[in-house]
Amino acid sequence: MKYTGTTYRPPIEANTLLLQVTVGCSHNSCSFCTMYKDVPFKIEHIQQIEKDLQEAKMLYGSQKRIFLVNADAFVLSARRLKEISAKIIEYFPEMEVITMYASIKNIMGKSDQDLIELRNMRINDLWVGLESGSDQVIKHLNKGHTSNNAYEQLERLNKAGIRHNDIFMMGAGGKGKAIESAAATAALINKSGSNLAGVTSLGFFPGSQIAKEVQNGAFEPATELEILEEERKLIELIEVENMPFYGDHPINATRLVGILPQDKDRLIADIDAAIQTTDSSILNGVTERTTL
Ligand code: SF4
Repeated sequence: MKYTGTTYRPPIEANTLLLQVTVGCSHNSCSFCTMYKDVPFKIEHIQQIEKDLQEAKMLYGSQKRIFLVNADAFVLSARRLKEISAKIIEYFPEMEVITMYASIKNIMGKSDQDLIELRNMRINDLWVGLESGSDQVIKHLNKGHTSNNAYEQLERLNKAGIRHNDIFMMGAGGKGKAIESAAATAALINKSGSNLAGVTSLGFFPGSQIAKEVQNGAFEPATELEILEEERKLIELIEVENMPFYGDHPINATRLVGILPQDKDRLIADIDAAIQTTDSSILNGVTERTTL
């Protein structure tokens, strides 16, 4: 199997077959992200993709789920995605879900008919990096979309029957923005009916724009307490039924996994316990998150 550069995938796709269809990230400009700075964006050749599918079939046999690598594979045209999906189904007719990362901009590049046809080709469970529901926050992060875009595009996915697993980042608004950002994020989750919410925390990776802003004082990071309070408020405000909540990214201070709303009280109690048992110097300081 060919993988160019470092390959990232959501933690819960750890046992999913990974197939490279793009290299790097077509956006590559989020102010906190350095993941693909060392590798220019490229589209993988269909011949290589087929070779990898042949190898995967030989190595792993039957597969029901596949994750298309890399950062925003949904940037590919609907035509190319359908071609790849047809190849996947040819080698793995039992395949149930073809999933990948998708940005809001990637979804904007598809027509409603494209989305329906992609869903018919078993594309589902798109992992959408939203980071926050707050316009101000995502503008500063240079995500390349507005919160209105997010509302509209997630609704288009819903209409096409494509589930979306939405990823958010605690602390993304910086100091003093925790509750406001949590409320905006919960509103987006509730309105768009996320299939799943995955929660990470903002890190300051060397070389990132945001790390430079921290150094020169242009951005004041949230304290650890604010990050926990943001997650607590987010959980409190989510109203979607039977929604898996994964706050278990290795970069997070606490591991929180549950189904909302059933596990709401337990998750909030876990955060309260973390706040009560953590030294105040840590709670009131800024935790260094410089590697994934
Ligand atoms: S966060 Fe995602 S979309 Fe943004 S630059 Fe990094 S890989 Fe690309």
